[in-house]
Amino acid sequence: MTAGALPHTVEVRTLAARAVSLAGVVDPAKLTRLSAAIVAANGAIVVSADFDRDEEGRYVVAMQVSANVLVTCQRCLGTLEQTVASTTSLAVVWTDEQAAQLPPRYEPLIAEAEIELWEVVEDELLLALPSFSYHSDANCGVETGVQASGGDGEGFARENPEKDNPFSVLQSLKGEKDS
Ligand SMILES: [Zn+2]
Repeated sequence: MTAGALPHTVEVRTLAARAVSLAGVVDPAKLTRLSAAIVAANGAIVVSADFDRDEEGRYVVAMQVSANVLVTCQRCLGTLEQTVASTTSLAVVWTDEQAAQLPPRYEPLIAEAEIELWEVVEDELLLALPSFSYHSDANCGVETGVQASGGDGEGFARENPEKDNPFSVLQSLKGEKDS
């Protein structure tokens, strides 16, 4: 099943009033901020957006976004594959004041008439993307078995001597016994 392209802009209140559900894909190459944050994307970004009004009359969007991307491993600087997914409830507001008053279950979506749906998708992905990514130990290009184990006792030597820590004496005694 091939989903069509997600519309770039939508009239969010109109869609919400009609309880429209949209599903589609976005070409990650079209999202410049995302492209800058990743190495590459594996395939399209898959999006579903259910527009509706909640019981208090808000215009809301339940949005699911997922993408498979390649990012840089911060340990070996190789690439690794990562699935980025987010599920968000957005509520449409006009002003920052309204945004501040939203219940915590909503993220504010400040919009006049049209919203740039692709930008909302991009924002969600950037929020969901971990700041630092690492391979699992077995797959990482860097040998993790030889990680510096910290010189013996060095940790204690660096401790603030004025710090009143009754355990430091016990620990140093124990350290002497073990060595
Ligand atoms: Zn790695």
